[in-house]
Amino acid sequence: MRSKGAAAWNWSLDTARPGRHIALHAVVLGGLVVAFVSRLALMPLLEDQAPYLFFVPVVLLAAGVGGFGPGILATGLSVPLVFLLIGKFVAFGWPEIINGAVFALIGLGATWIGERLRLARQQATTREAHLRAIIDTVPEATVVIDERGIIQSYSATAERMFGYTAAETVGRNVKLLMPSPYREEHDGYIKRYLESGKRDPIGAGRAIAGQRKDGSTFPIELAVGELWSGSHRFFAGFIRDLTERQETEARLQALQSELVHVSRLSAMGEMASAIAHELNQPLSAVTNYLKGSQRLLSGSDSQQMAVVRDGLDRAAGQALRAGQIIRRLRDFVGRGESEKRIESMTKLIEEAAALALVGAKEKGVRVSFDLDPHVELVVADKVQVQQVLVNLMRNAIEAMEECNKRELTICTKPADEGMIAVQVDDTGAGISEDMALKLFQPFSTTKPHGMGVGLSISRTIVEAHGGQIEGMPRPGGGSTFRFTLPVVREDEPFDA
Ligand code: ADP
Repeated sequence: MRSKGAAAWNWSLDTARPGRHIALHAVVLGGLVVAFVSRLALMPLLEDQAPYLFFVPVVLLAAGVGGFGPGILATGLSVPLVFLLIGKFVAFGWPEIINGAVFALIGLGATWIGERLRLARQQATTREAHLRAIIDTVPEATVVIDERGIIQSYSATAERMFGYTAAETVGRNVKLLMPSPYREEHDGYIKRYLESGKRDPIGAGRAIAGQRKDGSTFPIELAVGELWSGSHRFFAGFIRDLTERQETEARLQALQSELVHVSRLSAMGEMASAIAHELNQPLSAVTNYLKGSQRLLSGSDSQQMAVVRDGLDRAAGQALRAGQIIRRLRDFVGRGESEKRIESMTKLIEEAAALALVGAKEKGVRVSFDLDPHVELVVADKVQVQQVLVNLMRNAIEAMEECNKRELTICTKPADEGMIAVQVDDTGAGISEDMALKLFQPFSTTKPHGMGVGLSISRTIVEAHGGQIEGMPRPGGGSTFRFTLPVVREDEPFDA
């Protein structure tokens, strides 16, 4: 079935090129004329000896190159031409007829074999053309190299990606397409692989850099497969250009950090009146101390001076406190580049609590901390982790608004595999049933004025730090939110 289909396909290919068909027949006729004239010229010498010999090459060539049509033409014309040549020397009898028939049979046999060869050749050419078309249309560039790293084949996509043409690359070392340090290391990669059979680093899909003809480099993902052709081993590299993907990722990241910023602003917006209230206290204290000091200064003796100094000290202390709150608020609301440093978890929590808990005391919330000194240092973006803490603490306070018991506990303890777990417990209403499944989905909220992005952003931040976050009911009522971060051991070097 298959070969029949292939034959029909080839036939249509042949008829699609009638020019070549006619030319082949013309060449066969030319060859027969040459054979006939040469044999005729040698007639006085050879007489009727082996008259078919001169026609054998023509028949073989016609059959081998042209297949059926030219083969039959060559065989069919050779027999009468030989009869014509030897007619003068012999009277026709059975021997001549048998000789002619045997030659015709051999010629037909050669033609049949030639036709099979021609079909096989055409199928191979068609298959190769199909394969090439496929390789040239897939979005990955395909580069095949041998065991020495010499490029054997180089697809059209590769031409577009690297700027080299196939003619410029085939026969050269594949290092041409790599920047340093891959360029220097590549021979070693192949050698190591050939010796040890270890698949790393070629084989696994991985992101590295490629180098274009103009010298510019770009990010690529490379997957390498091994193929055997007879006893020869080749490596096929499939290369994807990651430039566009990285640009999209950068855009996404920018958008995400913008969203993170906006949500911080909105959280602060909600807290603005509480903050104003909180600032009012120290600032009016400053005013009172200063006024008192003024009064004392008006009738000054040395004893009174000491009291005045103390009063002024206190005023300064209160003013500092007010300044600190404002500074933290500014840091928190500021856009700030995302950067990770080694931070003290205790300090992070204390500072975040100072912001999140403004107004909590007035609402009757009792806050307690239980911070484990054994897990202390983390690599974190301070503002972002504080944002998570502020979100969790504000949610906890809001969840306890309608409850009689209002206890908020923040504790840290070691978790699995070098992580620290930070846990925020409240004795609030607990996570509602329909919320439990979509806690961390953006825009899911049960609050009338809630945006529903706090927890989803917290998850983004925690996961970007290599940790996990979860929310669950607290035994005894309320909720527990817990997130993990990788801790840094004191002796561990840190690469920012
Ligand atoms: P928002 O606070 O704007 O609603 P979040 O993403 O921070 O957005 O929270 C989503 C929802 O998760 C809240 O509306 C609330 O129903 C629930 N939730 C969060 N924290 C708690 C908590 N401590 N106790 C009970 N429910 C909570």
